[in-house]
Amino acid sequence: MFESLGQKLQDILDNMRKSGRLTEAQVKAAMREIRVALLEADVNFTVAKDFVARVSEKAVGQDVLGSLNAGQQVVKIVHDELIETLGGKAQQPVLKNDGNVWFMVGLQGAGKTTSTGKLAALYKSKGRRVLLVAADTQRPAAREQLKVLGAQVGVPVLEVNDHEPPQVTRQRLEEYLQKDFRDLVIVDTAGRLQIDEALMDALADLKGALNPSETLLVVDAMTGQEALNVAETFESRIGLSGLIITKMDGDARGGAALSAKSVTGKPIYFAGTSEKISGLEPFYPDRVAGRILGMGDVLSLIERAEQAELSAFAPKKPGEFDLEDLLVQLRNIRKMGPLGDLIKLIPGMSKMLPAEFNVDEKQLQRIDAMISSMTLKERREPKIINGQRRKRIASGSGTSVQEINRLLKMHEQMKEMMKVMQRMGMGPGGKGGKM
Ligand code: GDP
Repeated sequence: MFESLGQKLQDILDNMRKSGRLTEAQVKAAMREIRVALLEADVNFTVAKDFVARVSEKAVGQDVLGSLNAGQQVVKIVHDELIETLGGKAQQPVLKNDGNVWFMVGLQGAGKTTSTGKLAALYKSKGRRVLLVAADTQRPAAREQLKVLGAQVGVPVLEVNDHEPPQVTRQRLEEYLQKDFRDLVIVDTAGRLQIDEALMDALADLKGALNPSETLLVVDAMTGQEALNVAETFESRIGLSGLIITKMDGDARGGAALSAKSVTGKPIYFAGTSEKISGLEPFYPDRVAGRILGMGDVLSLIERAEQAELSAFAPKKPGEFDLEDLLVQLRNIRKMGPLGDLIKLIPGMSKMLPAEFNVDEKQLQRIDAMISSMTLKERREPKIINGQRRKRIASGSGTSVQEINRLLKMHEQMKEMMKVMQRMGMGPGGKGGKM
């Protein structure tokens, strides 16, 4: 997502940066281009217009034009305005010590149930005692889907009955909570394919009965501007506190995410980034803006590394880096997600790589398979791996002797590199400390 928009904005800004001093005409032309780029990314018309007006005003007002690094300053203004447009400071749902009831609403297919499961996993990992409520009184299949997710995450699911009145649901919830302490209740409500009057009434009734502390609308980034129409309707009929935008991993142009805050007045709390239960990230406007402008997102990279408990290159003894260490590191890194995505979080990388760039995950799996087929002794002392052993490992891992040879050679080179890094004080145990 945002790739095409990012590319265009970066090109426009690069041109300005190169020019040094800027004339007003140059800035005007660039602003026109930025506006077109935003509209092409499906950004709401008014949002695009206001964005460009604010950037122009600041560029002219701050008297940057005549200065030597005018282009650089315009880049900063665009960056700042992008952050503002995306919502400014990152916001998260309010979480009290107890009595948190979050109401999940959205159209069918938006990813509401999946996001409910993701939130349960996320807050369970933060030490919360989560209860899910499957509150679709008309579709048993929807309740079933939430039960499966609840079991997967390891949190209980309270299921409503067919056509259960909201007051009964409230009562059953209170009774449940008296028996089993839960400090965060997340209610997955009914969805329909389209906005439907009867559904809106039912949701408003249920909301009235449960009196949630947060009402989160789940919208699908792929539906673009339509997502914002949906948001406006839900806001006026039900009232919202924040948004979750799903499928940010897809190739949506990004307009919905960029316009959501301005159009609805509600912050984006989270972004859905994959179908997996772990695919939900807090939405940080500054990081997203940095990513769009190709400035990278080192903070997200560090967080992912921390989640994967990446003990970057720390062999047991300095100077020793055997195949067992290689295997552990390889698996740690793969826990962080697709490598192609990770590399793009590094500042400047997205510009140097083609948009469709991706690391060959299959190759990594083969290396894993090869090392896994070795005995521990072989992993610790690769030099004992003779021809006979190479044949055995190749057939055990479904690879070839040539591949084993390549792996062993690569490992030799890595070991050499580590030694050099250590001598330079960059490796583990050196002056540079841990990576
Ligand atoms: P609901 O009808 O709103 O409850 O939607 P579901 O939770 O059943 O999700 C609809 C589809 O979207 C499912 O196939 C999900 O796996 C998928 N989905 C949900 N969130 C995401 C996301 O962030 N990224 C991707 N790629 N798929 C998602």
